[in-house]
Amino acid sequence: MSQNEMDQLRGRLDEVNLEILNLINQRAELVQEIGQIKTKQSMNRFDPVRERSMLDHITEHNDGPFENSTIEHIFKEIFKASLELQIDDNRKALLVSRKKKPEDTVIDIKGTQIGNGTAQYVMGPCSVESYDQVEKVAEAVSKKGVKLFRGGAFKPRTSPYDFQGLGVEGLQILKEAADKYDLAVVSEIVNPVHIEKALDYVDVIQIGARNMQNFELLKAAGDVNKPVLLKRGLSATISEFINAAEYIISRGNENIILCERGIRTYEKATRNTLDISAVPILKKETHLPVMVDVTHSTGRRDILLPAAKAGLAIGADGIMAEVHPDPAVALSDSAQQMDIPMFNTFIDELDKMKNRLEY
Ligand code: PEP
Ligand code: MN
Repeated sequence: MSQNEMDQLRGRLDEVNLEILNLINQRAELVQEIGQIKTKQSMNRFDPVRERSMLDHITEHNDGPFENSTIEHIFKEIFKASLELQIDDNRKALLVSRKKKPEDTVIDIKGTQIGNGTAQYVMGPCSVESYDQVEKVAEAVSKKGVKLFRGGAFKPRTSPYDFQGLGVEGLQILKEAADKYDLAVVSEIVNPVHIEKALDYVDVIQIGARNMQNFELLKAAGDVNKPVLLKRGLSATISEFINAAEYIISRGNENIILCERGIRTYEKATRNTLDISAVPILKKETHLPVMVDVTHSTGRRDILLPAAKAGLAIGADGIMAEVHPDPAVALSDSAQQMDIPMFNTFIDELDKMKNRLEY
């Protein structure tokens, strides 16, 4: 074969490639149009019966040289890619997605910005037990320049016989101590009917892991104008987590902070498994700030600091951890709360690292 003939064949091959490209893109556009109709009619996008009949139709017309099995394989890939395109379109539509809004959402909590590139801390006791207990932690937290103060007044406990929290009285205690040191209050609400009442006491409504798919609670939090800290469910996928946030934003409240707090795995060395890779994934997929809760993920006081460092290194917008004046007597999470000297070292070490990262 002369070089000339070879060049001609190659030229023709390039043309055919472009024809195929053109045709598969035309096909994708048709699939997208069909997808829109299916959405309107609430029909399932994946339709195996239709796929089977398309494959049969194609192989009936196949005169070779490819075998039918090869042709089926190639077309199945094209079908799959088209379906993924539809799913992608769907994701594009999510209000929390980066595709919808490329810029980072920065949330202002009483003058403290979260999501602006400088990591913040959310520190405080697991539960509000008494004014004295809360006040001691508030003082320590404020001395370290931490502005966001957490504490549980409504505690969603695994056992109904465990301490359930002080309720509204707990919120009052938190606010009083926070006001004394000019801190912002982050506290969990477990019941949609408590949201309105909580607005008087909290600066951030926390929705806990056990309630990540409490859709009525998500909607109620979406209806108010208060930042929401949404924790990842115990066994929620990233997609379920993102959709939970979508419930909130779809009601009008876009001030949402996502919080990775560990997921349930077979591993028993930690209370949960800190899914550190969720942080950059959530930051890529959504425009929302992402925090890491090192207390509930690890459940181990001895590894809070390295876990928090990992959080900072991977780009978290904040670190949450629990602090108690005397963890040994805490009414909840006694094994994993830091005492005040340990908290002081924790913040000093993280601040050193933050300065290096920002430098
Ligand atoms: C909490 O932060 O107080 C808490 C109960 O955490 P989680 O919902 O992540 O278990
Ligand atoms: Mn706790």
